[in-house]
Amino acid sequence: MTFSVHGLSVGRGLGGTANGVAIGRAVCILSSRASVAHYFIDAAQVRSELSRVYHAKEAVIADMQRLQISLSEHVNKDAPQELSAIMDVHLMLLQDETLADGVRHYIEERHYNAEWAVSAQLEVIAAQFDAMHDPYMRERKGDLEQVAERLLTHLMGTQQSANLSPANQTSHESLILVAHDLSPADMLRFKGDVFSGFVTDVGGKTSHTAIVARSMGIPAIVGAKSASQLVRQDDWVIVDADAGVLIVNPTEGILAEYRQKQADGLMAWQVHLDSDTRDSSQAVSLLAPDGTAITLLANIELPTDTVAALAAGAQGIGLFRTEFLFMGRSQLPDEEEQYAAYREVVLAMRGLPVTIRTIDIGADKPLDAIHGQERNAINPALGLRAIRWCLAEPTMFLTQLRALLRAAVHGRIDVLIPMLAHESEIKQCLLMVDRARVQLDASGVLYGEVRLGAMIEVPAAALIVPTFLKYFDFLSIGSNDLIQYTLAVDRANEEVAHLYDATHPAVQFLIESTIKQCLAAGKSVSVCGEMAGDEMHFKALLDMGLRTFSMHPSQMFSFKKFAGR
Ligand code: PEP
Ligand code: MG
Repeated sequence: MTFSVHGLSVGRGLGGTANGVAIGRAVCILSSRASVAHYFIDAAQVRSELSRVYHAKEAVIADMQRLQISLSEHVNKDAPQELSAIMDVHLMLLQDETLADGVRHYIEERHYNAEWAVSAQLEVIAAQFDAMHDPYMRERKGDLEQVAERLLTHLMGTQQSANLSPANQTSHESLILVAHDLSPADMLRFKGDVFSGFVTDVGGKTSHTAIVARSMGIPAIVGAKSASQLVRQDDWVIVDADAGVLIVNPTEGILAEYRQKQADGLMAWQVHLDSDTRDSSQAVSLLAPDGTAITLLANIELPTDTVAALAAGAQGIGLFRTEFLFMGRSQLPDEEEQYAAYREVVLAMRGLPVTIRTIDIGADKPLDAIHGQERNAINPALGLRAIRWCLAEPTMFLTQLRALLRAAVHGRIDVLIPMLAHESEIKQCLLMVDRARVQLDASGVLYGEVRLGAMIEVPAAALIVPTFLKYFDFLSIGSNDLIQYTLAVDRANEEVAHLYDATHPAVQFLIESTIKQCLAAGKSVSVCGEMAGDEMHFKALLDMGLRTFSMHPSQMFSFKKFAGR
């Protein structure tokens, strides 16, 4: 039966110039399984993948039988029977034909790698448990999860090298990932992966998960509430990311209509690419109605994103979100690794300015390595995030500052500090930068000069701009957070997304007054939140006097049409 689920449109980051439509089969995953590798195998690899599953299953069975024996030998007399019964259930689930048949189907027919095949079939069985009337049977889903984790852990320990040639990927049908939630780090992990669309139950339009999806140029819908419960593994789905609508099991008629929409979108996209290659590697040069130049800078998450930035004609990097170097890993990057990453960006941009933001973690960007406690805070968006966390972890902050100063030897770096609100924090930051210089001097390491800037993303900061201008060379307005904190609307919460409004007079007032005070003081100012890349806000920001916009490279194409006007 055809039905639709509504969520928030993330679009494709093209500002309406092409359609954000993806059509494919649903791949439902539990958020906790986002780290499971998803790739297609060659026909020649089918046998070895099946054998990996077989051996992993045998190993888990052997482990469990060993455990049963040791339980019966060591645990007190009452407990073993109960535990042993649970083990029996687990063994039964593991040996069940449905699991084996489904996994074989996904490997043989769809050419999924072993881990993906196992997790896909587990989702199918889990949905069957959910649909059972008997509460005892429904509860067995928990057992299934435990068995699944054991099996996947074994498989991941014997991971094969992925054979991911692009030709290999395109020969398969299009797939849409449907999950309750995906962290920004998970989303980034799927970059260049097999999925052509994403749907999550939770999240707002400017949540970091949505931002990463937009930067990948892939149609996505966030805040689709119950999508992950309503969509079943392998359902045919249409993601209309422009309208924020997910259509499940469409009729032939609807499918044909959307295929046409998708084809039109691809054609428009091709026209953009063609006109772009005509002036390829040319920076976008736009003029405001008063004849002054408009600068388009790129927002990036990883050093490799500089390729897309240059291809889109960016005149520099306006925001490198360095926290993505720190997320989704168990150990933080050391000074050498960070230095290499920052140097890579600077060298790739060949003399164009590069703005690197110091680590901005917390709220919807938790750090796996050490941020566990804060993740459980009642109000993480108001907690130990961004610069607050950096000042609470001076060793880590100094490591990053030293890496940034060293990378500045290779080209211009503007260092941007997020989420400042207090003059005392500003002073501490400046002291830390000095201390990093002293440390480098003491060890005789070469470093370069950097310009220092602050993000204006807390209303308190926007209300004391002169204080910021006393200390900083430039300001960058983080409209995503400025809107969130001005209106007290969680940017990652779909329940209040309708109240998240960039055009609210209070937001407009804070942005305009920040821009005007900067310009009056002769200091540079930019907007690097999602507003900057949205055509809808372009004219209003221009009228406020803004001339520097930092956005996803994919959004720059839509601004080129303003060139020469
Ligand atoms: C912002 O808040 O507008 C911003 C650019 O930073 P982030 O989206 O990474 O919080
Ligand atoms: Mg921010």
